[in-house]
Amino acid sequence: MLLKKEREMVIKIALKAQQMGLISLTFGNFSLRDPATGHICITPSGMDYEELEPADIVVVDEQGKTIEGDRKPSIETPLHTTVYRKRKDVGGVVHTHSVFATAWASCDVEFTLVAAELAALVAEPVKTAPYRRMGSVELAETVAETLEDKSAVLMSNHGLLTVGPDIKTAFANAVIVEEAAKITFYAKMLGRLKEMDPDECQVLRQWIVERYGQK
Ligand SMILES: [Zn+2]
Repeated sequence: MLLKKEREMVIKIALKAQQMGLISLTFGNFSLRDPATGHICITPSGMDYEELEPADIVVVDEQGKTIEGDRKPSIETPLHTTVYRKRKDVGGVVHTHSVFATAWASCDVEFTLVAAELAALVAEPVKTAPYRRMGSVELAETVAETLEDKSAVLMSNHGLLTVGPDIKTAFANAVIVEEAAKITFYAKMLGRLKEMDPDECQVLRQWIVERYGQK
């Protein structure tokens, strides 16, 4: 079997997302790109995450063509492959319909930067890609375009997409955006939002890039 360890990692992340309440039932999709071969391991369409075995994860190329696997890959495979084609720095893509992020993606109010953790990740407010039908090439293109070189993008009336140099980081980014979406929602209920200073957001971003973690 090609990329067994990588397939196991995709399942691990999908289960973690489910445990943390970022996805319901079979919604959402997860993938990673193997840096050595460039092959993409992606979750199959409409299967229970608890039942996934490594053989259920589909290995596709950058165009979405199946290289190995009997399952039908996620209907959002074009979304993942389009991002991988445009962003050579991306090694993991996570797409969820997590409730608070999707709520911000479904209203006209700007998702203001008030949470320092999110500011450190994105430095400027997360953009929302215009609505396109799920699973379509149009959705894939508009999302990849709105994402630009950032780590997260909201998808109008649909959900959230996050990326990272690997799938673990892409997943962590999905958690950060959802938490910030929740904090921002509650803060807005409590009173007027205190927007973070844009310069401070840039400083935070730089600080995280240079100092955070064990490396
Ligand atoms: Zn979706």
